[in-house]
Amino acid sequence: MEETRLVLLGPPACGKGTQGRLLSEAYGLSYFSTGKQLRREVEADSELGREADTYLSRTEYVPDRLALNLVSGWLAERRGGWVLDGFPRTVPQAVALDAFSEERIGGMRALLIDVEREVLAERVAQRCECSRCSWVGTLEEVRERGHCPDCGGGLNQRRDDEPEAFQKRMDVYEELSLPVVWHYEATDRLLRVSGIGSPEEVFTRVRSALSKHG
Ligand SMILES: [Zn+2]
Repeated sequence: MEETRLVLLGPPACGKGTQGRLLSEAYGLSYFSTGKQLRREVEADSELGREADTYLSRTEYVPDRLALNLVSGWLAERRGGWVLDGFPRTVPQAVALDAFSEERIGGMRALLIDVEREVLAERVAQRCECSRCSWVGTLEEVRERGHCPDCGGGLNQRRDDEPEAFQKRMDVYEELSLPVVWHYEATDRLLRVSGIGSPEEVFTRVRSALSKHG
């Protein structure tokens, strides 16, 4: 069987990261998160990290060239299947990945986790995180206690999730990343699943889409 090679697409808070981790566990794939990798480069104070930091500190996306550098370096070292989260984010990135893949890798597909904007706005309005540990959950889950179930710390809304910040992220997604969805659709490589429901429910749809078209 051909190795699974997937790019994950979808709006902010659609659950891409969670599905990426579930996929990598279930199918034994290497998982790449652009956001995580960039933070690692920043912490390591590498040349790439220092450049990336000038964008990240303004909560902007890094330029295509920098993102491609990061991903192509990682891909060149991979053997076997993989799943990419947070790349490609723009059409030029998708085109560059195609050019890169033709030389080295084949059989790549895109998986869109589809959730409507209004549903996402509601989802992030309900989301909170612990100010002390890394716990993230919903207001519903902590309604009775009012503090972090793991460590008892105070709970805040993430800055990215505040209404204005979220709407801005959605606008950027629709302008730059929605055309990436069309790019894969036009070349008949797009799998689309609904991102509504629990992570387990969504993952059941993901598995079924992959087994039908994988
Ligand atoms: Zn906590």
